[in-house]
Amino acid sequence: MGRQIIQATAKKKRKSLSSRNSSGPSSARAKTPAKAKTPAKPKAPKAGSKGKAPGTKPWTAAEVEEAFQRLAAVIPEPRGELEHINPYTLLVAVVLSAQATDAGVNKATKPLFAVVDTPQKMVALGEERLREYIKTIGLYNTKAKNVIALSQKLIDEHNSEVPAAREVLETLPGVGRKTANVVLNIAFGEETFAVDTHVFRVGNRTGMAPGKTPLEVELKLEKIVPPPYRVHAHHWLILHGRYVCKAQRPLCETCVINDLCRWPQKTTFMASG
Ligand code: SF4
Repeated sequence: MGRQIIQATAKKKRKSLSSRNSSGPSSARAKTPAKAKTPAKPKAPKAGSKGKAPGTKPWTAAEVEEAFQRLAAVIPEPRGELEHINPYTLLVAVVLSAQATDAGVNKATKPLFAVVDTPQKMVALGEERLREYIKTIGLYNTKAKNVIALSQKLIDEHNSEVPAAREVLETLPGVGRKTANVVLNIAFGEETFAVDTHVFRVGNRTGMAPGKTPLEVELKLEKIVPPPYRVHAHHWLILHGRYVCKAQRPLCETCVINDLCRWPQKTTFMASG
């Protein structure tokens, strides 16, 4: 799957939804009267508001569905970008990926997973040699300690298998809710919504799933994402955030959900006539 960029390929769809949802932000602007008697004015976005779309109208169920339909049309079978060969190596890769890029983790794990693909082999490798493999990854000392400890725990308590339950996964050293959600989703096909920095930004910026914490965004997504998009939803949002709705310079001009997005500072499309 790699670095597919989610870009504008659904102009027609945007147009059709815009006409269906005439109460959207664009049409609201177009209706502003020259001499309005009413004192009611829309709240202006705070200056410098970079990440959130405060005070905006919540997305309708139809809009959420439309957004995922478009994202799915661009990437029908999205996959995580962390390389792995089984649930165990996926778990290790996700633990290593905290505050690190997937590309950086993949670079380190390629030679590691060529020789270590089970908890037993990891424990046999030992913390010191593991550190050598992953020393290019941030926080590698702590991560090496956690990987060895979680491998030992899998051997001792889980028959060397990766458990398929969030509450059990979260008892493993170095495994938090996000890591558990990623493993449950990718390894076991569960409808979980792992919220990383990209999903958090997209959820808040677009106004689709606003929340002050990753958990709030996750629970919102859990509530609003309809089938059949639930399994892949977090992948679509990650890829959208990573390659289109970037933190510094979002590519609004080529964004397939531009007309749905509530971000006050988005770059809107020019009318194409
Ligand atoms: S329109 Fe811009 S801000 Fe909104 S989702 Fe698309 S890229 Fe992000």
